Amino acid sequence: PLRLRSALALVTGAGSGIGRAVSLRLAREGAAVAACDLDGAAAQETVRLLGGPGSKEGAPGGNHAAFQADVSEAGTPRRLLKQVQACFSRPPSVVVSCAGITRDEFLLHMTEDDWDKVIAVNLKGIFLVTQAAAQALVSSGCHGSIINISSIVGKVGNMGQTNYAASKAGVIGLTQTAARELARHGIRCNSILPGFIATPMTQKVPQKVLDKVTRMIPMGHLGDPQDVADVVTFLASEDSGYITGASVEVTGGLFM
Ligand code: NAD
Repeated sequence: PLRLRSALALVTGAGSGIGRAVSLRLAREGAAVAACDLDGAAAQETVRLLGGPGSKEGAPGGNHAAFQADVSEAGTPRRLLKQVQACFSRPPSVVVSCAGITRDEFLLHMTEDDWDKVIAVNLKGIFLVTQAAAQALVSSGCHGSIINISSIVGKVGNMGQTNYAASKAGVIGLTQTAARELARHGIRCNSILPGFIATPMTQKVPQKVLDKVTRMIPMGHLGDPQDVADVVTFLASEDSGYITGASVEVTGGLFM
């Protein structure tokens, strides 16, 4: 049986890696997908892969539609939610924030710009999307499930990633607090902490480092975007109906 038959899912960062895998998986479970990315062409390509034409921005391709948006820009996530609601005639009941960037540098050399950019996209972006989605759901009296992609690095740190680790730790606290505040409105909020997943983001990591990390993973291999998409599906569905404020680790046992 389809687990998300009548759901509308908004996925940010849907043009690549985990966001694209999440979009495909949620659609396979019956959800209509609003695929958003900074890279509008990449979001449209995701919609094309979902089986819709995806040729016209913001136009439903079958059940699905692509949207170009920068989640870190003040006002943009609110506008995005309005566009999605206008396109599908309802607010998304599932919201998955996958948009994220890295700007790695050791603390001793990190520039303020490296810090600001990563915090703006990974932390402020998730704040703006979570807030806009919650406002849309509460004002239409709809229940929902908000899923924010954090990282295991937000819990244990990582060399060269003070900015990224801080942003991802922030996402955990933000999500827990949102979970407390929004439970009374029937909105669940959970975060996922992936370990090392094979995507364009980790392709930038030197092979030597990846080999070293792989040796530290009890399961012996990097994760697949599907591994994260499976957990998103669980958290999006009623199978997790009594779970809120959780941070679910998907790491192959890398850290326990
Ligand atoms: P990716 O680089 O393949 O995809 C990220 C997507 O986000 C891209 O399509 C990019 O265009 C989009 N994006 C970037 N900035 C944006 C913005 N301002 N507004 C809208 N979209 C924007 O990366 P991925 O590996 O799929 O990562 C997805 C999420 O998972 C990120 O939040 C990342 O931090 C997190 N994560 C990844 C790993 C991993 O090992 N790959 C591990 C832990 C957490």
